[in-house]
Amino acid sequence: MPDASSPGARLFIIYTGGTIGMAPDDATGTLVPMGFREIKYHIPELAKLGYEFDMHAFNPPIDSSNMSPEIWIELANLIHDNYTNYDGFIILHGSDTMAFTASALSFMLENLAKPVILTGSQLPIGEIRTDAKENIITTMEIAAAKKNGKARVPEVCIYFDYYLFRGNRAKKYNTETFEAFNSFNYPPLAEAGIDINYNDQFILEYPKEPFRINTRFNAGIAVLKMFPGITQHAVSGVLHTPELRAVILETFGNGNTITAPWFINELKKNIDKGIIVLDRTQCDGGSVELGRYETSAYLKEAGVVSGHDMTFEAAVTKLMFLLGQEYPVEKVRQLLEVSLKGELSKK
Ligand code: ASP
Repeated sequence: MPDASSPGARLFIIYTGGTIGMAPDDATGTLVPMGFREIKYHIPELAKLGYEFDMHAFNPPIDSSNMSPEIWIELANLIHDNYTNYDGFIILHGSDTMAFTASALSFMLENLAKPVILTGSQLPIGEIRTDAKENIITTMEIAAAKKNGKARVPEVCIYFDYYLFRGNRAKKYNTETFEAFNSFNYPPLAEAGIDINYNDQFILEYPKEPFRINTRFNAGIAVLKMFPGITQHAVSGVLHTPELRAVILETFGNGNTITAPWFINELKKNIDKGIIVLDRTQCDGGSVELGRYETSAYLKEAGVVSGHDMTFEAAVTKLMFLLGQEYPVEKVRQLLEVSLKGELSKK
């Protein structure tokens, strides 16, 4: 069924920065952020949509490479403080770390009953061939969409190049094409063509409890990426990170690593000390299956936790979020393997 365009919807737009609002610096030629006023100037269609919208612009806007847990908290607070006054929320964000912010917000915004959609663009809004206009306009339509009086998509999403993805399943995978994002392990929630077609069966259920935010994070994590020839010095350097609470082990294939005794012992020693080791595959599609091969059976015995089919972005933010709750280590280990906001599927 084609979607009604929900005239009169009230939307709240947060402009954080990113290419979408950048223009070349006259002196150096590099892209630097411009203000939101210029963005509105470049999309006169915004006024024609028939929505009411208010904006909050970061001052100064940031390149999303400078995103941080502190700014995620600021975003969650902005949504919380404006929650009852708007039907949907749009975050204009650089594409580089958009999937991290979307994942972080998916965990922080509890019992979300309204759409929170992040979008951006590959070409700045002022360029003739920009993808920003389509991305912003369709994002607004989706953020305004209702079914039976309720939000059509009550979750944190990324809209980019005709696809709406669950935020904690999306990743930026291409720096050049307009199709910058993909969701390798979960179907798109909607696809925009002549109509916007929603895949209702893949969208999270409408919550039963009232909305609230949870803004506790602990960034005491590190990443250990496997490669043939990795040395004991490199491994031990990561595992000796000060104030380390958890490590994401980026593994081969279904979750495999080298089986050299020094490596397994090094991991085991740390796990026994209470450090959480989360196994996430370096592959974009598919899942970790601890114990499928001998090369991961050792990890399972040592107490490594499976990341299943989580994206790297979801793994990073979920770990920071769970560590921030100050749960006992065993509870964090259990919750890592459970889907909190649709971020993983178990085989
Ligand atoms: N460097 C930019 C950013 O992430 C790239 C983009 O916006 O797409 O802020």
